[in-house]
Amino acid sequence: MTLNQVIFDNVSFRYAEDQPWVLKNVSFSIKQDEWVAILGHNGSGKSTIAKLMNGLLFPDEGAIYVHGMEVTPETVWDVREKVGMVFQNPDNQFVGTTVRDDVAFGLENRGIDRRIMLNRIEDSLTSVRMSDYLFHEPHRLSGGQKQRVAIAGVLAIQPELIILDEATAMLDPRGRKDIMMTVNDLREETKVNLVSITHDLNEIVGADRVIVMNEGEIWLETVPRELFKQEEALRQIGLDVPFTAKVTNRLKDIMDFDQQPLTQ
Ligand code: ADP
Repeated sequence: MTLNQVIFDNVSFRYAEDQPWVLKNVSFSIKQDEWVAILGHNGSGKSTIAKLMNGLLFPDEGAIYVHGMEVTPETVWDVREKVGMVFQNPDNQFVGTTVRDDVAFGLENRGIDRRIMLNRIEDSLTSVRMSDYLFHEPHRLSGGQKQRVAIAGVLAIQPELIILDEATAMLDPRGRKDIMMTVNDLREETKVNLVSITHDLNEIVGADRVIVMNEGEIWLETVPRELFKQEEALRQIGLDVPFTAKVTNRLKDIMDFDQQPLTQ
């Protein structure tokens, strides 16, 4: 049986009673080992979903379950043991003066035995290809390297689920590529569930499934390949498909046209 790691059951949320609903009846689930991308234009409700997923916020209506546990103020600390988050700004995420100290921080907080701690630091840095940087200062790394260290810090805690909330948004194209490759590797090498939140369709390519948000509601749930075919509809909700997908769509149109009989 496949376990649902995350369940959003009819979730509605607003930041205050006198403010509009930011999420309206949102329902979806994420299965074990799945990588799900949550896509949408700015303000469509993606970050709010991420915050609800690890108990930074709680639903006004409906319920959220993470690894079989309902997310409530009572369970929030247990939930956070299972959900790691990587945010947009790499510079805001460092606490250590070296890469090793930084990755150690979350483990020290949990009182983990020193020997186990050193192994976990090494393993998680190896997973993101940063094991050669143990004694480097985090602030001197490139944007992509910083985010890889932030991912290692989360991995070291051995979470069930990692949420990347626009984790590439502040990086240059090279840094972005770097992170997407790392996420792809993690997907293949570890059993961790991944939720990546983005407004950029280039970044959903490797995901198993994509949930498209629009104005606080799920607009569509599909696989990336199918989504790229919906160029026009996507444009109407403020999303642009990648150039290569546009070319593929055009070629397909031409091929379909060529295969039509010239005379009826
Ligand atoms: P996204 O991540 O897709 O850009 P958000 O979840 O951040 O969207 O925001 C969804 C809506 O909630 C937006 O209209 C935004 O202005 C509003 N919002 C976000 N954070 C707050 C907040 N702390 N207080 C009030 N409104 C907020």
